[in-house]
Amino acid sequence: MVTMAINSTTPASTVKGVPIVSYESETTVERVAEAKLPTEFGEFRISGYRSLISDEEFVVLARGQLRPERPTLARIHSQCLTGDVFGSTKCDCGQQLREAMRLIAKEGSGVIVYQQQEGRGIGIINKIRAYALQDAGADTVEANERLGLDVDLRRYEQCAEILRDLGIRRVRLISNNPDKLHAIKDGGLVLVERVPLAVKFHRSFSRYLRTKRARMGHLIDIPGGTLPELGAVAEIS
Ligand SMILES: [Zn+2]
Repeated sequence: MVTMAINSTTPASTVKGVPIVSYESETTVERVAEAKLPTEFGEFRISGYRSLISDEEFVVLARGQLRPERPTLARIHSQCLTGDVFGSTKCDCGQQLREAMRLIAKEGSGVIVYQQQEGRGIGIINKIRAYALQDAGADTVEANERLGLDVDLRRYEQCAEILRDLGIRRVRLISNNPDKLHAIKDGGLVLVERVPLAVKFHRSFSRYLRTKRARMGHLIDIPGGTLPELGAVAEIS
């Protein structure tokens, strides 16, 4: 990933309209609110962060003491209204979110950064349009391409910045997504381990998982399939 430090004399370059900043540059997020949140997985702290360079907001769930020297369970979860809220079985997002909360509760400490980039950044309306094309036979990548939308608009720099703001330096990342693994390292954090997420297999999202694995490089173990395990981690460690 190309990154560029910004300062008073250097203009920020942009990718997909979002300024690129390195972890050495000025702060681009601020924590604006914090409260307790009791959940079915026990009590978390919930905090709200605001971007200082866009209108993006982030929600953080945290548990336990977060210390720089301790390898900390962390997940960057991208909002999926249909999966997270409605229990859609078209994708594995809701299961991943709840499994991450369960792992952090069991560990006694950890963090979920919830970024509100719905539908890999295309927004909920375009996501529903893409679902309509999928109903007619397209896979998730083809559907976005037919709508003239990028397959994945998400960026994770500010999520890594939030982890640093919380006092975390060493990360055990709960993720199957190589882009997020790279974002941890690019964001000045130490990637200690990838903690794979296992989800209950639904026939209705088997095609989605196969597409994520085959066309987006996700590290997903599919029953009956082969597993491209940990190549991305070895590459960036
Ligand atoms: Zn989803």
